[in-house]
Amino acid sequence: MNETARRPQPATLSRFRIRGELPVPTLINGLTLTAVPLLLFFALRAARAGADPITAPLLLAFAVVLALNSLVYLLLGYPTLHRRTFITLITGLFVYLAVQAVEDGSAIIWLFAYPPVIFYISEARTGITACAGGLAGLILLFSPVGDLLFQPPHSASFRLSMVLALAFEMATCYVLDQSRRRSKLSLLRLAADLDHAAKHDSLTQLANRREALAQLDGEYQRFLRNRRPFSVLLIDIDLFKAINDRYGHHAGDQVIRQVARTLQQACRKVDTPARWGGEEYLVLLPETNAGEAWQTGNRVRAAIEAATVEEGGQVLRVTVSIGVATLLEGESVDRLLQRADEALYLAKHAGRNQVHESTPVANDVTSRSGTGD
Ligand code: GH3
Ligand code: MG
Ligand code: MG
Repeated sequence: MNETARRPQPATLSRFRIRGELPVPTLINGLTLTAVPLLLFFALRAARAGADPITAPLLLAFAVVLALNSLVYLLLGYPTLHRRTFITLITGLFVYLAVQAVEDGSAIIWLFAYPPVIFYISEARTGITACAGGLAGLILLFSPVGDLLFQPPHSASFRLSMVLALAFEMATCYVLDQSRRRSKLSLLRLAADLDHAAKHDSLTQLANRREALAQLDGEYQRFLRNRRPFSVLLIDIDLFKAINDRYGHHAGDQVIRQVARTLQQACRKVDTPARWGGEEYLVLLPETNAGEAWQTGNRVRAAIEAATVEEGGQVLRVTVSIGVATLLEGESVDRLLQRADEALYLAKHAGRNQVHESTPVANDVTSRSGTGD
């Protein structure tokens, strides 16, 4: 099936951006900008207090490496490295703050800053793992084993409140994060659906006229760069009004759908079949010269003539007339479409169910025609 005729897939959602959403690198850089002075402040206090020889240089080292991480990102990019280094650094920092009783043990309450950040900047699974690991570590720290290894200075009631409040915060962050992710996904799906609806015809799911014109313009720009010719087929169902009159509008719709399906099957993957209007179609044939377009036109005409539609116990067949035109040097897209339309007009007047090709002769345009049989 042709690319333009597909429904939006989840993988294509990454094409869309939600305006107003804080990008992860910006959040990390903002947090780094806040954390570095805080770390320097607490490093200075630890150095002044002279309680232990490790805390001051370690907090200073965290500040330097955090700043370097953002600097490397700003200079070179690499958002994944930026994010992973940040997660590793803050995880290490929070573990140290918890086990080392920094600021007489009060620094442990900075642990509350961890869950919202980790859920925002990483995948949900990473957030759950990090939070569950952190909570288990805290429980271990406050257990008799932790007492034996680290002697945390906290009272029993503080420990209980800290563990319960952190677990509560982690669960709340998880629920809010899930809700945020679901809303984001449905917004992206909505954007993809709207994008699809704006570019496709609802009856046939082919590209619509606006999308066909956009693709034509893209192909024209490519032609201006590399001079590779492209062609168009303008296709009109013959005596379609009679189908509607005889079998009803619904049967007419089924015929329009069937012709669209046949077009998709008869065209290459790179071609763009589009619904140009009521019972008219346009096929854009990139990098296709006049000879190849002529052959494609005849193949399409024969395929549509051979196809059948079953409607209300009746087997319907239709034929089409096709105008073929290939872009000429110095010609506009409008003029190309006009020539295809003129060729289609000639095909109709020559008896329908045939292909006419617009061929330039001097300053005028003539055509060849045939059924390709
Ligand atoms: P010709 O061979 O000269 O093209 O004859 P024709 O009958 O196909 O051309 P005409 O322009 O007289 O009729 C086209 C008909 O297509 C008229 C219109 O009601 C019908 N039509 C346009 N869009 C649709 C549609 O979406 N569904 C159905 N069922 N009919 C449509
Ligand atoms: Mg018509
Ligand atoms: Mg018609």
